[in-house]
Amino acid sequence: KKIEAESRKMLLKKTKKMPLYETQTLKIYNSLSGEKETFKPIHEGNVGMYVCGPTVYSNVHLGNVRTFMSFDVIFRYFLHLDYKTRYVRNITDVGHIVDDVDEGEDKIAKKARLEQLEPMEVVQRYTVDFHEILNAFNFLPPSIEPTATGHIIEQIEIIKTIIDKGIGYEANGSVYFDVVKFNKTNHYGRLSGRNIEDMLANTRDLDGQSDKRNPQDFALWKKAEPQHIMRWPSPWSDGFPGWHLECTAMSTKYLGNHFDIHGGGMDLKFPHHECEIAQNEACTGQTPVNYWMHANMLTLNGKKMAKSTGNNILPREILTGDNTILSKAFSASVARFFMLQAHYRSILDFSDDAIVAAEKGYKRLMEAMNLLKQITVNTKSTIDVQAWQQSCYDAMNDDFNTPILIAQLFEGVKYINLLNDGKEALSAADLQLFTKAMNAFIFDVLGLEDEKESDSNNDKLEGTVNMLIEMRKQARDNKNFALSDQIRDQLITLGIQLKDGKEGTTFSVQ
Ligand code: AMP
Ligand code: ZN
Repeated sequence: KKIEAESRKMLLKKTKKMPLYETQTLKIYNSLSGEKETFKPIHEGNVGMYVCGPTVYSNVHLGNVRTFMSFDVIFRYFLHLDYKTRYVRNITDVGHIVDDVDEGEDKIAKKARLEQLEPMEVVQRYTVDFHEILNAFNFLPPSIEPTATGHIIEQIEIIKTIIDKGIGYEANGSVYFDVVKFNKTNHYGRLSGRNIEDMLANTRDLDGQSDKRNPQDFALWKKAEPQHIMRWPSPWSDGFPGWHLECTAMSTKYLGNHFDIHGGGMDLKFPHHECEIAQNEACTGQTPVNYWMHANMLTLNGKKMAKSTGNNILPREILTGDNTILSKAFSASVARFFMLQAHYRSILDFSDDAIVAAEKGYKRLMEAMNLLKQITVNTKSTIDVQAWQQSCYDAMNDDFNTPILIAQLFEGVKYINLLNDGKEALSAADLQLFTKAMNAFIFDVLGLEDEKESDSNNDKLEGTVNMLIEMRKQARDNKNFALSDQIRDQLITLGIQLKDGKEGTTFSVQ
């Protein structure tokens, strides 16, 4: 029996396919070193990635979607390379103060006050909206989506440790991180390329209103004002945790004190990520993250899209065309294609012209994919499919260069047209390899969808309802009104309304 089990194991090993990551060398631009580095995960075959999620006090705008999409594609590529990937993206539902500072109102509490809602109603509303948008734009859900309010205990524990290490101090029920003290043994500002002396020289002195020892210190815990609803008990006061702390708590809880990748938008580098590093180093003595990744901004009229300035487009407006900037509606895949035509570290400016052009490109790609289904095989190949496929990998291996990948996919489109014209030929094995690679990169890695499929579903719906309309007419002609009413009423419960007119019966879908 033992021998049998051994040989079965051997066989399993032999038949188990070699993971793709063993055949590719991925390079990632690390914001910490300012260089592209060969990616080597801490645990072979596994990737741990944390990305700062949205602050759920209003609808996400298209700029936010771009950053999350950059990491969606990165997540997709890790999965494609056969890495076992744990992707943690949080929901910030407390602690993010207006203007990203320490003094003032919590963004969610402010919205709740203005709209006369419970803070958790605000959180629920915009979390649901966030999920709906990401679904519509074909995002993969992260492996874990923790909330800041769900991790208050963990945050309090970290504060206790930072105080024990002498780097945190309490003042009037709030707790602050002593940046100057931390900087004596560590380097505060390493990620954003700053140094504490410059920072101290360039900031105004504290005006006596603040409990901080130095203006660079940041809040780990804030004592809540009497009217503040979002509050939790702690050893220092009834209050709430600081924004930077929540990401330290949630990332280390699910990925460990030392993990592979931490991402977010470029604007989070300082102070948010700098403070995260400081908290981790103060707490554990080790730097938390091997590769820091920052996605660049989506701009509109050359200015950063932002919730606070109103200079933004909502993702839903893209789908409905309901914004004066837009000449018409665009599908989610077109918006995805538009964004992925730029590298994630480049600034991308949104304009109607640019997305109209992207739509043309996207359609050309989808048309070619449909044509590909009709290509017939030959005995010999005239195209080196392996080399072309590797060029697609090379693009993604070069710090997830999606614009270069898209250019390679258009090389593929060129091949499809030549194959269709009989000017190039592929063997059965090569055609299979080529088709598989085109599908994998377009649909699995870039996350595009063929909207023809939804068009064809619409055709099916129309055909089915027209058939029911005809059956209802026959029932009526036979004076079987029970059946004709049943058809009409059941369609209503499905959100399909029949309208009888002179020209016959039509329908609308709610
Ligand atoms: P927030 O909800 O404000 O914390 O932002 C969520 C994410 O969107 C963060 O990673 C931000 O860096 C990112 N972000 C904010 N504005 C833009 C923008 N205009 N373009 C791209 N990403 C953005
Ligand atoms: Zn964060």
